[in-house]
Amino acid sequence: MSPAKRLELFRRLRAANPAPTTELLYSTPFELLVAVMLSAHTTDKSVNAATRRLFPAANTPAAILALGVEGVKEYIRTVGLYNTKAANLIGLCQQLVQLHQGQVPDSREALEALPGVGRKTANIILNMVFGHSEIAVDTHIFRVANRTGIAPGKTPREVEQGLRAVTPAEFAHDAHHWLLLHGRYVCLARSPRCPDCILRDLCGYRDKTPVRKAPVRRGIAAAVRAAAARSAARADKPAAAGRRTRGTAAPRTTARRGRGN
Ligand code: SF4
Repeated sequence: MSPAKRLELFRRLRAANPAPTTELLYSTPFELLVAVMLSAHTTDKSVNAATRRLFPAANTPAAILALGVEGVKEYIRTVGLYNTKAANLIGLCQQLVQLHQGQVPDSREALEALPGVGRKTANIILNMVFGHSEIAVDTHIFRVANRTGIAPGKTPREVEQGLRAVTPAEFAHDAHHWLLLHGRYVCLARSPRCPDCILRDLCGYRDKTPVRKAPVRRGIAAAVRAAAARSAARADKPAAAGRRTRGTAAPRTTARRGRGN
């Protein structure tokens, strides 16, 4: 894909959703770290169902340590692999308390040393909490990058390096959310919604869904509008407004730095 097309692609994604956000619920850096860690190999919806109950009961490393592994399990049973994740969460909280004064560390090395935290989770925290322009390549971003041709690669790491190299600076911070949401709601793994895709003329995917076979389920425009509305609503609400606003759009983290647990 040419630089001009890439620029246009990001311009369109930004125009459709000016303040992209994660769909995980959180109100502090620690809550975001927990939510992202729990979201591995499961849906944001199941994580939110768990954290809606967990965070009011315990949203600091010390409070979660007090629950213990079995106590944590009671809250996160809706999450895939909850046995392993409960053990990792307790180990993560122990490290935060022992090595980081209960705060979410701001270095990749320290983040990736936490139990249950890999490169993808570290990238999300570095991006959303500390304002770095990192891109956490998950299955959606991997698919979109390869299909469109923005940054093809055989592995998530290769795609990440490609995206880092070619994403125009003005889009670098939010590229992660735009590509992820596009993959989740438009460029679906099966039957991508090509007929209504705003990137169709820029996309290099050879097997686009033909117009006549366009899925009729939910209008693409409605899906994009809903995602943008969620982003805008979360961006407009101050974090202090309460747990229900744990959106992320606001990664803009410098404002949140130091508020973590
Ligand atoms: S045109 Fe189709 S394959 Fe290309 S990004 Fe859009 S939905 Fe995905």
